Amino acid sequence: MKSRSEKVAIIGSGIAGLSAAVRLAVSGKQVVVYEQNAYTGGKVTAFEREGFRFDMGPSLFTLPHLVDELFELAGKAPREYFNYHTHDEVCRYFWQDGTQLTLYPDVERNVEAIRTVFGDASAARVAEYFERARKKYELTAPFFLENSLHKPRTFLTPEVLKVVAEIPKLGLFSTLHQENQGFFKEPKLVQLFNRYATYNGSSPYQTPGIMQMITHLEHGLGTHFPKGGMHEISQSLTRLAEELGVQFELNTRVEELMVEKKRVRGVRVNGRPVLYDQVVCNSDIKHAYQHLLPKSVKRPKKTLAQEPSSSALIFYWGLSKQFETFDLHNIIFSEDYEREFDRIRTNGPFWEDPTVYIHVSNRLEKSDAPEGKDSWFVMVNVPYDQGQDWDKIINKTRTSVIERISKTLGCPIDTYIEVEEMLTPTAIEQRTSSIGGALYGTSSNERLAAFLRHSNKSSSVKGLYFCGGSAHPGGGVPLCLLSGKIAAEWLNEDTQHAKSH
Ligand SMILES: Cc1cc2nc3c(=O)[nH]c(=O)nc-3n(C[C@H](O)[C@H](O)[C@H](O)COP(=O)(O)OP(=O)(O)OC[C@H]3O[C@@H](n4cnc5c(N)ncnc54)[C@H](O)[C@@H]3O)c2cc1C
Repeated sequence: MKSRSEKVAIIGSGIAGLSAAVRLAVSGKQVVVYEQNAYTGGKVTAFEREGFRFDMGPSLFTLPHLVDELFELAGKAPREYFNYHTHDEVCRYFWQDGTQLTLYPDVERNVEAIRTVFGDASAARVAEYFERARKKYELTAPFFLENSLHKPRTFLTPEVLKVVAEIPKLGLFSTLHQENQGFFKEPKLVQLFNRYATYNGSSPYQTPGIMQMITHLEHGLGTHFPKGGMHEISQSLTRLAEELGVQFELNTRVEELMVEKKRVRGVRVNGRPVLYDQVVCNSDIKHAYQHLLPKSVKRPKKTLAQEPSSSALIFYWGLSKQFETFDLHNIIFSEDYEREFDRIRTNGPFWEDPTVYIHVSNRLEKSDAPEGKDSWFVMVNVPYDQGQDWDKIINKTRTSVIERISKTLGCPIDTYIEVEEMLTPTAIEQRTSSIGGALYGTSSNERLAAFLRHSNKSSSVKGLYFCGGSAHPGGGVPLCLLSGKIAAEWLNEDTQHAKSH
């Protein structure tokens, strides 16, 4: 007799939830995704206004093969569902004294660009820097990012021995800032490479030097941007999941994760219990323990005590003019980066000189803005929400940001803003349940942060799995795709194991 296929509920349709949904559907599970919003994708969403299209959340897209592999797994041709541009610039950097530098996904071009702007001495160790980043990435990514750190088996592989042998060279005992200072005398280059700490919402003055490997993602593996915008990542995966039979229950908040005798029983929605064999929780971990799980379930105290990552204020501006000085990704640096990060990490007083990130999606996606106009996503890092007076902070930040950009472009940009929307840490929390509006779950400001993230499987409730930015391996689109993968594979292994016993 054919056994019935297991029923799995997924709480949340963030990128990790979608990755898990596709994988579980491919392995024959009956999957229902509950999403409290009217749309799928969580932080990876978008909106349109008066002819401008804006991605609301992520703008940097790395490791596209992690999206492709979901289509391949389902036996589909990825390009029929999802496609992307490969771009020949990584980012344009601007400093307030007028210095400008463009970097590329090409080591030789970068050495040349840095030599031209900062001279021979500054360029001398650039190639070595990228090589070091590549080695760190290749050595650690398969181990730290693609496996659970909570399974003994992970530590019994030959890769681990290689990692252990190289520990002194990984930069676990220095900070990213110290690592970068060791390479570059030019403070602007130290600042530039320090910025990679923000890729997981951390401070370069706290996060370990191993994070140098993040530079390899763009500079070594390439800079990409999805056709149709970042939103297409979540939407193409939703279409794939639907084709595979996944059922999406939108506008449906899970009110409780039901547990009986240390085993998951299902979820409560609209006041009613719905029974499931397994549940994958894509909601923020703290939110899950505070609001979804019964109080009787043991709390992982150290994990829950982890500091949330930084958040952001985002201004979405439709401009009535195109500013060609800006490419797809642009950064205007603050003059005192260390103080800026200190204010973010400690929730210090308002910082009047923020580093400003400007993403102009219509450089590659022409239809994102009307002819002759620009669609700007302008972001400033801020602490996660701790009850700050955001209205006051927004006004002051808006003024500083406009001043900074206007000075860089030599033109008062506020007169060109014809469409304006905003996103704040409190709005991010309301939309996604991420505690404090943290962009990347927990920060990586501690050396052992990777080991303190929540496991992809509950150790106290059978049949319960976790994925998403606050679970292993952390935040950001590529890591969330991997998080869904680890959770789904673990669930599949457990059900296989149960069947064979
Ligand atoms: C402004 C911004 C900029 C960013 N920039 C980048 C970038 O450039 N590159 C990058 O890689 N990453 C970036 N990130 C981070 C990236 O977007 C996230 O790490 C990733 O998208 C998080 O995915 P997730 O799977 O954790 O789910 P989330 O996106 O957090 O979604 C969780 C989903 O679960 C739903 N949910 C929660 N609780 C319940 C419940 N009880 N019932 C029903 N549904 C529930 C929520 O509604 C939500 O849809 C950025 C994020 C933001 C906000």
